[in-house]
Parts: sequence; C-alpha cells; structure tokens
Amino acid sequence: MPAGTPVRHVAAEVSPRLAKAALVARVDDRLVDLSYPLTQDARVQILTGEGPDALHVYRHSTAHLLAAAVTRLFPGTQCGVGPALEDPPGFYYDFVVERPFVPEDLERIEAEMRRLAQADEVFEHQVWPRDEAIRFFADRGEPLKVQLIEEKTEGQAEVSVYTIKDRDTFVDFCLGPHVPSTGKLKAFKLTTTSSAYWKGDAKNQPMQRVYGTAFFSDKDLQAHLARLEEAKKRDHRKVGKELGLFMFHPWAPGAAFWLHKGTVLYNGLAEYMRTVLYPAGYEEVKTPLLFNKALWETSGHWFHYRENMFTLEAGEGEAMGVKAMNCPGHMLVFASEVRSYRDLPLRFHEQTALHRNEASGVLGGLTRVRQFSQDDAHCFVTQEQIGEEVQRLLGLVQQVYGDLGLTYEVKLSTRPEQYLGERATWDHAEAQLKQALEAAGQAYTINEGDGAFYGPKIDFDVTDAIGRKWQCATIQLDYQLPERFDLKYVGADNAEHRPVVIHRAIFGSFERFIALLIEHFAGAFPLWLAPLQAVVLPIADRHAPYAAQVVDRLKAAGLRVGLDDRQEKIGYKIREAQLQKVPYMLVVGDKEAAEGTVAVRSRQGGDLGSRAVDEFIADAQAEVASKGQSAQQPVGV
Ligand SMILES: [Zn+2]
Ligand SMILES: [Zn+2]
Repeated sequence: MPAGTPVRHVAAEVSPRLAKAALVARVDDRLVDLSYPLTQDARVQILTGEGPDALHVYRHSTAHLLAAAVTRLFPGTQCGVGPALEDPPGFYYDFVVERPFVPEDLERIEAEMRRLAQADEVFEHQVWPRDEAIRFFADRGEPLKVQLIEEKTEGQAEVSVYTIKDRDTFVDFCLGPHVPSTGKLKAFKLTTTSSAYWKGDAKNQPMQRVYGTAFFSDKDLQAHLARLEEAKKRDHRKVGKELGLFMFHPWAPGAAFWLHKGTVLYNGLAEYMRTVLYPAGYEEVKTPLLFNKALWETSGHWFHYRENMFTLEAGEGEAMGVKAMNCPGHMLVFASEVRSYRDLPLRFHEQTALHRNEASGVLGGLTRVRQFSQDDAHCFVTQEQIGEEVQRLLGLVQQVYGDLGLTYEVKLSTRPEQYLGERATWDHAEAQLKQALEAAGQAYTINEGDGAFYGPKIDFDVTDAIGRKWQCATIQLDYQLPERFDLKYVGADNAEHRPVVIHRAIFGSFERFIALLIEHFAGAFPLWLAPLQAVVLPIADRHAPYAAQVVDRLKAAGLRVGLDDRQEKIGYKIREAQLQKVPYMLVVGDKEAAEGTVAVRSRQGGDLGSRAVDEFIADAQAEVASKGQSAQQPVGV
C-alpha cells in the first residue's frame, strides 16, 4: 500500500464483504477509524460486528448519535460527555437541559436517532486548530466542552473533533474512534434518564443523563431487553416489599427495617455462617460500635476515610467515630494479650452493625446502604501460614456458595504501581496465593496491578440466575494494619515477629447478599432459607382444629410453618401462598383429617399428593439438610 492509504482500502483489498462489514480497525495496538491513513508498515486488523472492542466503539458511536438527536430536537442543549459502558451494557450522554426529559422525550429522541441512522450520515474525523475549536464551542454556548478541550489538550496546537454529516448537523470534541457512518448503528434503545452532575461532583453543574443500550444485532438487543424486564420483576426492592421482608423510611436513610420474615431470613444466614465458621476454628467476637478517634488515627481511617464515617462528640468533647469496619477493633483484641506462634492462625469473626456515611443520592435498596453487617473475619497468620490459610478460605467459599447453589468466578489482584512494603514480601505473598488457588483446584484470572496498596487480594464474582455478576467474597492480605498497631507474636525462636492479617468475607455484607439471593431466587428461596417453609390451609372451618394440630407437629419438628384459617376459598388461599413463594402448601379437609395426612402442593403449582404428616416432616427435614442440592432449584417469577 502506498503511504497515506486509509485503512478501509486494506479491507476492500481483502474482500468487498469485509469492507462492508468493517466497523473499526486496530493498527498495531491502537483502535482507529476506517479513514485512518497508514503512514508506515503496521499490523492491521479489521474489526467487524463482534468482540468487546468493536462493541465499545459501536456503543460510543451511538452516544454521539444520541447527542446529535438531542441537540437537533432541543436547540441550546449543552453536551457533557458520552462514554460507552460495560455495566449496564450500553452508553450514556450527559446534558444541561432547561427541564428534565420525560419518557415522551426519550421516544422522540430515539425516533430522531433512527432517522439519522437511516440517513446513513458519515462520522467524519476532523482536526481543528485548538483556538478555533475553543472559539467554536464558546460561540455555540458550550462552556463545558471548552473546559474539556482546555483541560485535555493543554499545550497542543490542534484538537480532534468528529462530525455527523457536517459541523452544522453535529460536532463533538472527541478522540474517537467511531464507526464509519450512522447507518452501521442498527440495534439501539434508550432506557432511562437520571440526574447527574458535571464530572460526577455534586458541587458542579446539575445535568441530565440519558442511558441507552446498543448491540450488533436486534436479536441480542431484544435478549438484553428481556433480561432487563426479568431483572425488574426480580428487583429485590419490589420482591422484598411483596414478601414483607424489609422496609425503609425517610427518617433512617440507607438503613433497612427488617420485618419479621426478613429478620428470620437474616438470622438464618447469620446462624448458618456461625455453624460453618465455628468448626473452622473461628472465634466470634463483638467489638464496640463507637470508638475514640485515636483508634481511627492509628488505623489510618481518620485521615483517609473520615468523610465516609459518622463522627460525633461524646462526653467532654471526646471525638468519636462510629464503626465503619471491624478490622481496627480486632487489632486491639489481638494486641490485648501476648500471642505465641502456637496461637496462630487466630481468627476473629464478627457480625455487628457497621455504618458508612454514603451520600443520600446514591442510596438504593439493600445494595447501597449506610447501615449493614458483614460476615467479616480477620485471620492472623505467620508469613509461612498464608498459603495454607488461603487454601482453607477457598474451601469455605466453595462450601458456602455450594450450599446456596451459586456459581462464581475468581480473580487474583496483584501488586499495584503504588504499594506499601517490600517488593520481596509482595512476591512471596502473591506466590502463596497462586499456590493456594492451584492446590484448591480453583480456576482463576489475574488482574495485574489491581491489588490494594496494602496487599494482594482474591475477589469472587457470583453469577446470578439471569447472568449478572455480583462481587461478594473477598480475601485480602494486609501487611499494614499489623504494622500500624505494632502487633507481635513470639516465635519458636523466642523472638518477636509481625503477623500478617487476612481480611475476608464470604457473603460480604448481609444486606447486599440478601439482595442478591432475593434476585437470584426471585424470592423463591430454597427450603432451608425460606422464612416460611410451609403453610397449612384448612378447606372449611370444621377442619381448623386438625389444621392447628398439624401446625403444632410441624413446629415441634423445627419447621417454620403458618396457618391460613381465613374464611376464604381454598383456591384463593393457595394462590396467595404461591405469590408469597411459600415452598409447601398443606391442604387439609375431611379426608386428611380422617386419615392423619396432608395434601401437599409445591409453590410451582404442583400437586404432590397425600402424605402422612410424619412422612412430610421427614421429607422436609431431609430437603432442609441437603441445602443447595435440594429438589427446589431457582424458579422463574
Ligand atoms: Zn466520540
Ligand atoms: Zn478488615
């Protein structure tokens, strides 16, 4: 190819079909437009409608299309930024608008986007003198774009802009790349709007964010929209309300009120975790909720984390911080006695409440809260014990997620660029983590440089029933807190040594994990977790005494059982119990009372036939004991 040949000609040389399908190219390691001129020998890859890189460019190009439609329909709208997103998959664009967009506006904007896409207008890359670009956007009343150009192109003579069709139709300051023309954008949909701030800072200009999603094919788009619809049905805020699990009140922002059934679920998980951790050698402790700032100064949180904490003055002007994490308190417990190497590993587990001062704007349901509890623990180990302890932890994670029937992926995050401590210590720790993962037969990926500044970590992403990922468990090595609290143990050599701390949680926070479970199971919890495991339904008033006997026998057998003796039709009572996702409905009438049986129905609507009460109890107890292997797997809504 002669120098200056645009990449698209390379595609055309290969085949006309490739040229037609091309969206963007990679020249050596850089993603570029198809109009990019080749000036020297390079490795050229033409990207068509597949793979994450092309999809990213495709979605970002759709964000331009959105901004073009908005500025055409609402002249004078100022544009902010419009990136592609991985989660939620799609893109957004921020605007300064006179009034917030309403759903009808989104429909109009989307129709205008389709019109622009059908017209197949060119995305043209232009290079403008910097002062001309600044003047252009200033004249057009776009001070935010001027600010972006000034910040991002300091010291440069020229800036990169992209038009759609021409500069009068739409022009944006952007480094690109984009798809060659709007006609390539076929499957997109605007999803929601929300309020936002310039650069995400509440002190800045308020803006309106429009979210959209885009896929290469309509089939993928429709599948995604169906998944969103399914996610809406499973939304823990909605299901939690329907099942009477929890509530919120504006006078306690970000703090859940656990209603009776939710409390049963919460306590069930808390007790379950205790039964897992006690035999694994954990000591449960309860540390104070309110600490003098001296603790937080020692841990470093007073300087690096104070804005996320609730602080207050107590007694005679004593500055205090409400506990935001358990670690510093556990350091004090460790330091309260002389520890020997024979005491290690020493493991403190704690489930008390924590508070973090999240901005009220980001609070939502159980996933962004101010008050929560963790299934938190800190393992104090010697350098040599790291690998073995981590291997034990991997086993615990396997056990717990297995009991819940959850699948997960594992990521090892290694030394970041900014780190504290010795390089050799890090190398040693990372090698032990890898060995532990391999010894446990655990598949994992490596996130190079993504560890915390105080140590490497292993994170676990749970995949829920509709394919979404939730980061839950974490195992983090920490060399810094033991240093800050001057922790020591006496070694076999009679000398003092510094222990290593492993922060770890399996559920993460109970609140967020319950949100995950609600959405994963769509409220239909497996029998061992269900707040109400069975409900007894007498057909007529005369069956009430027998129904009450059945309830008593089930309760005596340790089952959580309710009685619906309202004077309603049996069909109505069954339907209501199904909506409440009660695993078993036990209908009793003349025949059952005479024979000492119950007519069993499952919540999926199945009639399981008549069973003696003792037989039902034995079956239910076996199902409870089998947990994740139980017969009732997640069901749809
Ligand atoms: Zn762009
Ligand atoms: Zn911790």
